[in-house]
Amino acid sequence: METLVILGSGCAGLTAAIYAARAGLRPLVFEGAQPGGQLTTTTDVENFPGFPDGVDGYTLTENMRRQAIRFGARFESEHIERLAVQGEKKCLHMEGGAEVEARAVIIATGAAPRLLGISGERDFFGGNGVTTCATCDGAFYRGMEVVVVGGGDSACEEALFLTRFATRVWLVHRRDTLRASSVLSDRVLAHEKITPLWNRVPVEILGGEDGTVCAIVCRDTQTGVVVKTPCKGIFIAIGHTPNTAPFAGILPLDAAGYIETLDNGVRTVVEGVFVAGDCADPVYRQAISAAGMGCRAAMEAERWLGKIAVTQ
Ligand code: NAP
Repeated sequence: METLVILGSGCAGLTAAIYAARAGLRPLVFEGAQPGGQLTTTTDVENFPGFPDGVDGYTLTENMRRQAIRFGARFESEHIERLAVQGEKKCLHMEGGAEVEARAVIIATGAAPRLLGISGERDFFGGNGVTTCATCDGAFYRGMEVVVVGGGDSACEEALFLTRFATRVWLVHRRDTLRASSVLSDRVLAHEKITPLWNRVPVEILGGEDGTVCAIVCRDTQTGVVVKTPCKGIFIAIGHTPNTAPFAGILPLDAAGYIETLDNGVRTVVEGVFVAGDCADPVYRQAISAAGMGCRAAMEAERWLGKIAVTQ
């Protein structure tokens, strides 16, 4: 039986791995579908302490991974399907049929980008014009007009990044003010290549004869008028859904799917199961706050493992 399994390898999981490995627990980390987590799709991380000139997300998470390995963390590429609890034993059922038993588990499975659910979105998703990651796909839209949907920090970051390639970035937002932080909002609103389209709700994505996106159709929330905006790329940045389906029924989830925690924010109702990062944080959702939760979850797990060792 494993002593400690960490599910997820974003900032939260990797920080938990560093702390647990340094405590001699030799944690096993299941990396999941997106090793490194959401940060790997971010170019410039400007607000992670310790990097006065910023750092790219891939480098930051790769450094954390190497740091965890240095102290004895082990990494495997597996994706959890279901968690079962039998007393002090936790059984992890993996996709593909493998089963792993552990005394303690830290869930750091993060969150996945939300989609609009409108006609055309799935048809053109991936290489044909609809995406959720400017860092990954922005360079394909050099010299073209693109749309970013959303009004939060992610949408602003995506829009600013896309100005490196696109001739025009249309920022489609359903209200007339951004919810993003003022530093990002100010940069977006001052940028000559970015044009906000306020009070617009996307209703359909249209493709051309070449099978790729040619326009987004939006409804004006004030007038009801339907407007077509020609574009070659559509970047959807409307928030995230926590990756918590494998834990439904075992751990209480809130209405939005975030794992509910006990008083200190990293313990759950199941003894020996801890959480860290965006899967349990509907409020802050920052790389540094996820890392902080990872640290706390590992320390709580270490304490709990020490407690059951004494009583056994
Ligand atoms: P968010 O703050 O939840 O913003 C989502 C945006 O999408 C909102 O403007 C929302 O509109 C809009 N939206 C939601 N559902 C929609 C729909 N169905 N149709 C059209 N628009 C829709 O998400 P986020 O921008 O991904 O940020 C998440 C968290 O990460 C935040 O805490 C943010 O501060 C943090 N973050 C920080 C940074 C940074 O500091 N550098 C970068 C990225 C993210 P309404 O405004 O009308 O609700």
